[in-house]
Amino acid sequence: MSGTTACAACGAALTGRKTLWEYKGESFWLCATCAALPMERRYALLKSEIRRVDQEAKDRAAAQVQYRSDIREEQLEPLLVHAFLDLIWERKAAGKLELVATMETIAAWLSDRTRLPVKAQHVQYLTLALRDGLVISVGGGGIGRPNSYDTRETEMGIDAFWDQVDAFLLVWKMPNRMSLLQVI
Ligand SMILES: [Zn+2]
Repeated sequence: MSGTTACAACGAALTGRKTLWEYKGESFWLCATCAALPMERRYALLKSEIRRVDQEAKDRAAAQVQYRSDIREEQLEPLLVHAFLDLIWERKAAGKLELVATMETIAAWLSDRTRLPVKAQHVQYLTLALRDGLVISVGGGGIGRPNSYDTRETEMGIDAFWDQVDAFLLVWKMPNRMSLLQVI
Protein backbone atom coordinates (compact mmCIF):
# COMPACT_ATOMS: atom_id res chain seq x y z
CA MET A 1 0.00 0.00 0.00
CA SER A 2 1.32 3.41 -0.87
CA GLY A 3 1.44 5.99 1.91
CA THR A 4 -1.73 7.11 3.54
CA THR A 5 -0.85 10.80 3.30
CA ALA A 6 -1.73 11.41 -0.37
CA CYS A 7 -4.59 10.34 -2.61
CA ALA A 8 -3.42 7.47 -4.82
CA ALA A 9 -5.33 8.90 -7.79
CA CYS A 10 -4.77 12.66 -7.75
CA GLY A 11 -1.94 12.99 -5.25
CA ALA A 12 -3.80 15.52 -3.10
CA ALA A 13 -3.00 15.51 0.60
CA LEU A 14 -5.48 13.40 2.50
CA THR A 15 -6.71 15.82 5.08
CA GLY A 16 -10.44 15.34 5.17
CA ARG A 17 -12.51 12.26 4.50
CA LYS A 18 -10.64 9.47 2.78
CA THR A 19 -11.76 6.18 1.29
CA LEU A 20 -9.98 2.88 1.04
CA TRP A 21 -10.15 1.46 -2.50
CA GLU A 22 -9.16 -2.08 -3.21
CA TYR A 23 -7.84 -3.62 -6.39
CA LYS A 24 -6.95 -7.35 -6.50
CA GLY A 25 -6.18 -7.44 -2.80
CA GLU A 26 -4.16 -4.19 -2.68
CA SER A 27 -5.53 -1.14 -0.93
CA PHE A 28 -5.21 2.50 -1.91
CA TRP A 29 -6.37 5.64 -0.14
CA LEU A 30 -8.47 8.02 -2.19
CA CYS A 31 -9.59 11.52 -1.39
CA ALA A 32 -13.33 12.12 -1.18
CA THR A 33 -13.34 13.72 -4.65
CA CYS A 34 -11.62 10.79 -6.40
CA ALA A 35 -13.68 8.24 -4.49
CA ALA A 36 -16.83 9.91 -5.84
CA LEU A 37 -15.66 9.79 -9.48
CA PRO A 38 -17.34 7.38 -11.90
CA MET A 39 -15.47 4.10 -12.07
CA GLU A 40 -13.89 4.67 -15.50
CA ARG A 41 -12.46 8.05 -14.47
CA ARG A 42 -11.11 6.58 -11.25
CA TYR A 43 -9.52 3.69 -13.17
CA ALA A 44 -7.96 6.14 -15.64
CA LEU A 45 -6.34 8.10 -12.80
CA LEU A 46 -5.10 4.91 -11.15
CA LYS A 47 -3.89 3.34 -14.39
CA SER A 48 -0.21 3.04 -13.40
CA GLU A 49 -1.06 1.48 -10.03
CA ILE A 50 -3.45 -0.97 -11.71
CA ARG A 51 -0.77 -1.91 -14.25
CA ARG A 52 1.72 -2.53 -11.46
CA VAL A 53 -0.69 -4.72 -9.48
CA ASP A 54 -1.59 -6.68 -12.63
CA GLN A 55 2.06 -7.19 -13.52
CA GLU A 56 2.90 -8.37 -10.00
CA ALA A 57 0.02 -10.87 -10.07
CA LYS A 58 1.28 -12.14 -13.43
CA ASP A 59 4.85 -12.52 -12.12
CA ARG A 60 3.60 -14.43 -9.07
CA ALA A 61 1.60 -16.82 -11.26
CA ALA A 62 4.62 -17.42 -13.52
CA ALA A 63 6.84 -18.17 -10.54
CA GLN A 64 4.45 -20.81 -9.24
CA VAL A 65 5.24 -24.46 -9.65
CA GLN A 66 3.81 -25.93 -12.83
CA TYR A 67 2.50 -29.50 -13.02
CA ARG A 68 2.35 -31.58 -16.14
CA SER A 69 -1.10 -32.35 -17.45
CA ASP A 70 -0.29 -35.34 -19.68
CA ILE A 71 -0.27 -37.70 -16.67
CA ARG A 72 -2.99 -37.60 -14.05
CA GLU A 73 -2.13 -37.84 -10.37
CA GLU A 74 -3.90 -41.18 -9.93
CA GLN A 75 -1.95 -42.69 -12.85
CA LEU A 76 1.36 -42.34 -11.01
CA GLU A 77 1.09 -45.42 -8.82
CA PRO A 78 0.01 -47.87 -11.59
CA LEU A 79 2.77 -46.49 -13.84
CA LEU A 80 5.46 -46.96 -11.21
CA VAL A 81 4.27 -50.34 -9.95
CA HIS A 82 4.00 -51.82 -13.45
CA ALA A 83 7.34 -50.37 -14.52
CA PHE A 84 8.98 -51.85 -11.42
CA LEU A 85 7.41 -55.29 -11.90
CA ASP A 86 8.52 -55.16 -15.56
CA LEU A 87 12.09 -54.56 -14.39
CA ILE A 88 12.00 -57.69 -12.25
CA TRP A 89 10.50 -59.81 -15.06
CA GLU A 90 13.04 -58.59 -17.58
CA ARG A 91 15.85 -59.62 -15.24
CA LYS A 92 14.31 -63.04 -14.83
CA ALA A 93 13.71 -63.39 -18.56
CA ALA A 94 17.43 -62.70 -18.94
CA GLY A 95 18.17 -65.67 -16.70
CA LYS A 96 18.69 -63.95 -13.34
CA LEU A 97 17.01 -65.19 -10.18
CA GLU A 98 15.83 -61.75 -9.16
CA LEU A 99 16.46 -58.04 -9.62
CA VAL A 100 19.56 -56.86 -7.75
CA ALA A 101 20.25 -53.14 -7.88
CA THR A 102 20.70 -50.08 -5.70
CA MET A 103 17.79 -47.70 -5.24
CA GLU A 104 19.65 -45.02 -7.23
CA THR A 105 19.99 -47.40 -10.19
CA ILE A 106 16.36 -48.46 -10.00
CA ALA A 107 15.35 -44.80 -9.79
CA ALA A 108 17.28 -44.09 -13.02
CA TRP A 109 15.66 -47.07 -14.78
CA LEU A 110 12.18 -46.11 -13.65
CA SER A 111 12.75 -42.51 -14.75
CA ASP A 112 13.74 -43.77 -18.19
CA ARG A 113 10.64 -45.90 -18.51
CA THR A 114 8.03 -43.62 -17.01
CA ARG A 115 9.48 -40.21 -17.95
CA LEU A 116 8.88 -39.24 -14.32
CA PRO A 117 11.62 -37.68 -12.14
CA VAL A 118 11.93 -40.78 -9.92
CA LYS A 119 14.44 -40.46 -7.05
CA ALA A 120 15.95 -43.10 -4.77
CA GLN A 121 13.57 -41.95 -2.04
CA HIS A 122 10.58 -42.83 -4.26
CA VAL A 123 12.08 -46.28 -4.89
CA GLN A 124 12.40 -46.79 -1.15
CA TYR A 125 8.74 -45.84 -0.57
CA LEU A 126 7.62 -48.01 -3.49
CA THR A 127 9.57 -51.14 -2.60
CA LEU A 128 8.74 -51.00 1.13
CA ALA A 129 5.06 -50.58 0.31
CA LEU A 130 5.12 -53.43 -2.24
CA ARG A 131 6.85 -55.65 0.31
CA ASP A 132 4.33 -54.78 3.05
CA GLY A 133 1.55 -55.28 0.49
CA LEU A 134 2.88 -58.81 -0.13
CA VAL A 135 3.44 -58.12 -3.84
CA ILE A 136 7.23 -58.53 -3.76
CA SER A 137 9.85 -60.04 -1.51
CA VAL A 138 12.97 -58.06 -0.66
CA GLY A 139 16.26 -59.62 0.33
CA GLY A 140 19.91 -58.84 0.76
CA GLY A 141 20.91 -55.27 1.22
CA GLY A 142 22.60 -53.75 4.20
CA ILE A 143 24.58 -50.54 4.31
CA GLY A 144 25.91 -49.70 0.86
CA ARG A 145 24.73 -53.01 -0.62
CA PRO A 146 22.03 -53.39 -3.23
CA ASN A 147 18.79 -55.15 -2.31
CA SER A 148 17.35 -58.04 -4.27
CA TYR A 149 13.73 -57.96 -5.38
CA ASP A 150 11.43 -60.69 -6.62
CA THR A 151 7.71 -60.82 -7.28
CA ARG A 152 5.59 -63.23 -5.25
CA GLU A 153 3.94 -64.48 -8.45
CA THR A 154 5.41 -68.00 -8.31
CA GLU A 155 4.48 -68.73 -4.70
CA MET A 156 1.02 -67.12 -4.99
CA GLY A 157 -0.05 -68.18 -8.46
CA ILE A 158 -0.79 -65.75 -11.28
CA ASP A 159 -4.43 -64.97 -10.43
CA ALA A 160 -3.83 -64.39 -6.73
CA PHE A 161 -0.76 -62.32 -7.56
CA TRP A 162 -2.67 -59.94 -9.85
CA ASP A 163 -5.50 -59.68 -7.34
CA GLN A 164 -2.88 -58.63 -4.83
CA VAL A 165 -1.46 -56.03 -7.23
CA ASP A 166 -4.96 -54.63 -7.85
CA ALA A 167 -5.70 -54.52 -4.13
CA PHE A 168 -2.38 -52.79 -3.54
CA LEU A 169 -3.07 -50.13 -6.16
CA LEU A 170 -6.48 -49.42 -4.64
CA VAL A 171 -4.98 -48.30 -1.36
CA TRP A 172 -1.41 -47.19 -1.94
CA LYS A 173 -0.44 -43.60 -2.70
CA MET A 174 3.14 -42.50 -3.25
CA PRO A 175 4.04 -40.00 -0.49
CA ASN A 176 4.49 -36.49 -1.86
CA ARG A 177 3.30 -37.80 -5.24
CA MET A 178 2.81 -34.33 -6.80
CA SER A 179 6.59 -33.84 -6.80
CA LEU A 180 6.65 -36.44 -9.58
CA LEU A 181 4.44 -34.24 -11.76
CA GLN A 182 6.40 -31.01 -11.32
CA VAL A 183 7.60 -29.38 -14.47
CA ILE A 184 11.27 -28.67 -13.88
ZN1 LIG B 1 -7.85 12.30 -5.17
